[in-house]
Amino acid sequence: MGRVIVVGAGVVGLTCAVRLLEAGHRVDVVARDLPLETTSAVAAALVFPYRAGPPEAVARWTARSEEVFTDLAGRPDEHGDHGVRVLPGTDAQRGEVTAPVVDMPRYLRWLVARVEDLGGTITRLNLARLPDPPGDGEDDLVVNCSGLGARLLGDDRSVTPVAGQVVLVEQVGLERWALDGRGPTYVVPRREEIVVGGTADDGEWSRTPSPEVARDLLARATELVPGLAGARVLRHKVGLRPGRPEVRLHRAGRVVHCYGHGGAGVTLSWGCADDVVAQLAPSVGSEGASPGAAPGT
Ligand SMILES: Cc1cc2nc3c(=O)[nH]c(=O)nc-3n(C[C@H](O)[C@H](O)[C@H](O)COP(=O)(O)OP(=O)(O)OC[C@H]3O[C@@H](n4cnc5c(N)ncnc54)[C@H](O)[C@@H]3O)c2cc1C
Repeated sequence: MGRVIVVGAGVVGLTCAVRLLEAGHRVDVVARDLPLETTSAVAAALVFPYRAGPPEAVARWTARSEEVFTDLAGRPDEHGDHGVRVLPGTDAQRGEVTAPVVDMPRYLRWLVARVEDLGGTITRLNLARLPDPPGDGEDDLVVNCSGLGARLLGDDRSVTPVAGQVVLVEQVGLERWALDGRGPTYVVPRREEIVVGGTADDGEWSRTPSPEVARDLLARATELVPGLAGARVLRHKVGLRPGRPEVRLHRAGRVVHCYGHGGAGVTLSWGCADDVVAQLAPSVGSEGASPGAAPGT
């Protein structure tokens, strides 16, 4: 079994770390931002593919993640509250459907506990380049889950920010999510609060919330879910999605890249993590596990 350094402690890095540890590898996660400081902590998060490619792989990764999230939602967990629920909702395109909804701050804490329980470590480290592999073995690897940071660490200018602003309001007894294509506009309930979104500004690096945008978000959301009228505003957040024409998931020598999940990092996380693990064991069904395009490959 290999020694692996996972770069990045967002939902993608932590999920890869869990799967790699479960497969018996030794894993150390290093990241400039710890989980609750990442883009992942800002996600709404509905398990629904948005602004990510390529379509076939996204469909497969989403289906796999849906299975895992649905399974998690259905069982009380020995590692603490994972914050995953399957809730009914309305999607302007699909009509009435149920989907997993993930309370990200809670879920990221749960992933951290999983990593640590399985013997992994998480360390804050701001890297100027990817680290060297942690050993000489074929499976001593670096897994690059640096999200937007892959512009630098993957030397990949096709990764660009897609800024998203949300408003968190108090829970008003809402147990359904709602999504429509305008904006897009979404309302996603957590147990103690409700996430109201959103925006998708290509190429925008600012994480400063705009009061005008917040007013517009609340107006759109209230049109979609009238019960939100007058709900107390708790916080404003902006996250920078790691936009890329396609997710990059492939092995290049002793580095496995896994970044560029756009608006769907939560949705794709378990499917991608399984494919990352398959890169370490090429003999065990890894065909088709490299669907994302690499720059220049
Ligand atoms: C408003 C909003 C709503 C969203 N809603 C949803 C949703 O409903 N469903 C969904 O599936 N997705 C949603 N997303 C998208 C989702 O948040 C992202 O796709 C996901 O967070 C990407 O995860 P990641 O782990 O790749 O990146 P990140 O969470 O950004 O983590 C990247 C990690 O890499 C580290 N890193 C970067 N550079 C360096 C460096 N130089 N040295 C060391 N470490 C480095 C960072 O510090 C961080 O730890 C939403 C996003 C936003 C902003």
